[in-house]
Amino acid sequence: MPSVPTVHRQQVAQALDQLLQPARFKDYGPNGLQVEGREAVRRIVSGVTASRALIEAAITDGADTLVVHHGLFWRGQDGRVTGWMKQRLALLLAHDINLFAYHLPLDAHPELGNNAQLAHVLGVCADARFGEQDLGFLGGRLDGGSFPDATSLATHVERALGRKVTVVQGRPGPITRLGWCTGGAQSYFEDAIAAGAQAFITGEISEPQAHYARECGVTYLACGHHATERYGAPAVAAHVAQSLGLEHRFIDVDNPA
Ligand SMILES: [Zn+2]
Repeated sequence: MPSVPTVHRQQVAQALDQLLQPARFKDYGPNGLQVEGREAVRRIVSGVTASRALIEAAITDGADTLVVHHGLFWRGQDGRVTGWMKQRLALLLAHDINLFAYHLPLDAHPELGNNAQLAHVLGVCADARFGEQDLGFLGGRLDGGSFPDATSLATHVERALGRKVTVVQGRPGPITRLGWCTGGAQSYFEDAIAAGAQAFITGEISEPQAHYARECGVTYLACGHHATERYGAPAVAAHVAQSLGLEHRFIDVDNPA
């Protein structure tokens, strides 16, 4: 029987770092290898969050390596390995699974990142960036057209993402210029307004943004943190798996938030 090809964990780490350039970012947690598993990598599972459900699915799938957007360790945690953290770590360690996590570098990558891949799904493309660490994307429809109004833009996004979105209507009339930033990017709304967006697409909304939308006339669409961030990790993992000759599968653990 031909042996299944494997590569050293370090090669996977190098390929991911080379693509995503984590040193360029100030982030909320460590990017790269967060939990060390076996040295020989054969099969990667990608997912949005290193939740227990994803780790269990990866184990069932026979993966030796996980690539996610939301890893286990964040600034502000108290550092104790108890409760859900103990359970997730115990599973990873017991099955010798490598956990790679890339947060902001995975949002930012101009072709394979969350924002670029969300744009692809929505049929829009960026021609500019805005906001802190250039994580906001600005652009318009691929066909150069406009959305007739906020409602039709919302319907378009709902169809593309397969879920309801929360809309706060700005100025009535057509929308040509879009700003977007995946996940919990409420704080990028004011920068999107300043950059000239007529509508802003992100994952979440907080109370103040509804008022900014009405007062500044810029439509706000909250489309789900998970729903807007489920395209980057599989794109990056598939790219790296292909370049190294590894197997890859994306596992989507549904999340209404
Ligand atoms: Zn996120």
